[in-house]
Amino acid sequence: MSTEHDFSLYIQLIAERRFEELAVRGVTMSGGPTEALKGWLRAPLTGMRAHYFKQVRADMIGPDGHGRLRLWEAMCGVEAVTSDRVPMFEPGNWPQCQRCQQKLRRKRP
Ligand SMILES: [Zn+2]
Repeated sequence: MSTEHDFSLYIQLIAERRFEELAVRGVTMSGGPTEALKGWLRAPLTGMRAHYFKQVRADMIGPDGHGRLRLWEAMCGVEAVTSDRVPMFEPGNWPQCQRCQQKLRRKRP
């Protein structure tokens, strides 16, 4: 099996939201930056999972042109900070955090 990556193909698959086909190729990638305030999201520096995040604060301005800082809390307790320069991303085909899944199931009737 070839280990060469066709990044232009990956970008195209992401743009067309064909995440299953990425997974088949052994590639895990996030979608684009998101404007969502909650849901399954992929934050920077939070491990190899998408978490179910909710934005809890957006009233701080970051240093050096980072723009507005946003504080996020996941169902499982993971916290994340994003900025205009390091934004929250759509989850793409990252696997979902199982602790978030459990808490969500318990919350929903
Ligand atoms: Zn989680």
